[in-house]
Amino acid sequence: MTDISEIFACLGEKVTPEQRALLQKAYDFAHSVHEGQKRMSGEPYFTHVFQVAKKLAELDMDTPIIIAGLLHDVIEDTNIPEEEIEKRIQEEFGSDVLFLVKGVTKLGTVKYRGYERHVESLRKFFLAMASDPRVVIIKFADRLHNLQTLEHVREDKRKRIAMESLEVYAPLANRLGIGKLKSDIEDAAFPYVYPKEAAEVQELIKEKRGIYEKNLEEVKEEIQKELEKHSIPAAEISYRIKHTYSLWKKLLRYNMDLEKIYDIVALRIVLNNVADCYRMLGLIHSIWRPVPGRIKDYIATPKPNGYRSIHTTIFTKSGGTAEIQIRTKEMDTEAFYGIAAHFFYKETEKHKERGPINKEKFKWIEELKNLNYNPRDPKSFLEHIKTDFFGDRIFIFTPKGDVIDLPEGSTPIDFAYSVHSDIGHHISGAKINGKMASIFTRLQNRDIVEIIRKKDANPSGKWLEHVKTTAAQKHIKSYLEKHSLLARLKSFGRRSKN
Ligand code: MN
Repeated sequence: MTDISEIFACLGEKVTPEQRALLQKAYDFAHSVHEGQKRMSGEPYFTHVFQVAKKLAELDMDTPIIIAGLLHDVIEDTNIPEEEIEKRIQEEFGSDVLFLVKGVTKLGTVKYRGYERHVESLRKFFLAMASDPRVVIIKFADRLHNLQTLEHVREDKRKRIAMESLEVYAPLANRLGIGKLKSDIEDAAFPYVYPKEAAEVQELIKEKRGIYEKNLEEVKEEIQKELEKHSIPAAEISYRIKHTYSLWKKLLRYNMDLEKIYDIVALRIVLNNVADCYRMLGLIHSIWRPVPGRIKDYIATPKPNGYRSIHTTIFTKSGGTAEIQIRTKEMDTEAFYGIAAHFFYKETEKHKERGPINKEKFKWIEELKNLNYNPRDPKSFLEHIKTDFFGDRIFIFTPKGDVIDLPEGSTPIDFAYSVHSDIGHHISGAKINGKMASIFTRLQNRDIVEIIRKKDANPSGKWLEHVKTTAAQKHIKSYLEKHSLLARLKSFGRRSKN
């Protein structure tokens, strides 16, 4: 069950003899320091760190990350003095591995309770993410294995861990684009937080699964024929059933009406290039009638977390509907691994084209780090995080076609400030889709917004009631503070001259 060959098997050809030796050394090291320790389940403690490392290997993570996975609990959960163990890690595995192990250890200790606990663990995540996202990826793997063995934990603790996973870990994994970890974490936590609902959804899927699969098999065959006919090479055609937690969340939005949910099952076509993707979309729409309003082009306009794909839903010949997702290999990899794709084994051909982390795409990590935090008001901090970073987002276009993503409920003022603080300060009006509108109008997804500026237009206190983003609030407040201070200084100056 804990044979290192399982880890090697995940990595395949990519792992060099030197890396193999290093992994073996870390394996032996972890095995010896956790010797005699047991998990709640009665299993040797080493099983846990091994499974965490294996999950990281399954994600194709680089050697230092897998090693840090094996060693992630040695500082806190062994009897060896901290200094001594750190020195040994440094000597045997180098400072990079030590940095990762220390990072994961720090992330794990939260001494608060209730609301504060929540906020504090989020803040730690942000800081860790900004300094090195690899730490967070290891922590996700750690949490996932703890969730998968949660039945052995005390009941009150169980619910807290599962809840925290749904509210902190999963949204973060999603925001980092790591779709695989996000859905695994959600599905492992779901039954502990909402046992009745999880069972219901599982039952529902079990009932319908057969029909869905038959339906998709039909569509798949026809698509295969079509691809051959037009000699479009397909890398892969597969289908997936929506995972239970995200299906449940969707059911909630649609009054538990399964008929209204179009993407319970989806057929995924992976092609060689973008041009083939659009050709495929055309071919599909010429065979099946698309469901109106269900065509989404996330290739032209990616989701805020970087997700790219074309989605369309069709009426199948047997009377049902089916969602079809079309994307390139690269987009498919990214949907699965997100930011983790940047820490792949670098030696391989497949991962060669991955450059450094796209700074623009993960700009929000930096923003999070710089968020003001008032320890006396954790609630409002959490509210900001929820709307600014994890809430539903809308895409707004500039007249030139640039896309700005904003939280739902944003107004032209938010839009202006997210372009530039100076544009925000002087906004006097807005043209939404070519028509003049108030600066307090709630924007809708895909609106095209042009900001009208006036030199003498300035922020007022009223604006604060009409903005959604933290950035806009911050700019308006600091403007107001500065200017009321200036006004006071001026009147003070006048008085003292008299
Ligand atoms: Mn652990």
